[in-house]
Amino acid sequence: MILVSSCLAGFEVRYNGTHCLNHQIMKLIEEKKAIPVCPEILGGFSTPREPAEIIGGNGEDVLDGKAKVIEKSGRDVTELYIKGAYMALNKAIDVHATIVVLKEYSPSCGSSMIFNGEFKDKKIAGNGVTAALLKRNGIQVLSEKQFADHLYR
Ligand code: SF4
Repeated sequence: MILVSSCLAGFEVRYNGTHCLNHQIMKLIEEKKAIPVCPEILGGFSTPREPAEIIGGNGEDVLDGKAKVIEKSGRDVTELYIKGAYMALNKAIDVHATIVVLKEYSPSCGSSMIFNGEFKDKKIAGNGVTAALLKRNGIQVLSEKQFADHLYR
């Protein structure tokens, strides 16, 4: 089974109430080969919500207590992000996920690039909180772009 970011499957769960539908991912859902998951909704957020970025590091640093996830207005939402990450990990284990495909750039789901914490649309290399936790637990995580490349290898 493949676990995928809900927003890639067309669910309007992004912070601004939109989705980022990926047709290959949607096809997998329709064929019952994939299951959607949104770590931020699992963590307790609703849609729409404030944008948030990791301040002071990356997803690994958040898990290690060395960086925080902060909303644009300044609220510390680190605990909710960590909670969502663990719930997503539990889901991946429950469904015996072999691959998890996560939306790039998100502070939860980014798996090679994330925003840099300045809320200025600048990206840096790094994992979001959920991607970092899944990788730490030996689960293969791909971005939607990496997954497309993987399909055509
Ligand atoms: Fe999409 Fe992940 Fe953000 Fe949820 S947490 S909206 S699944 S990128």
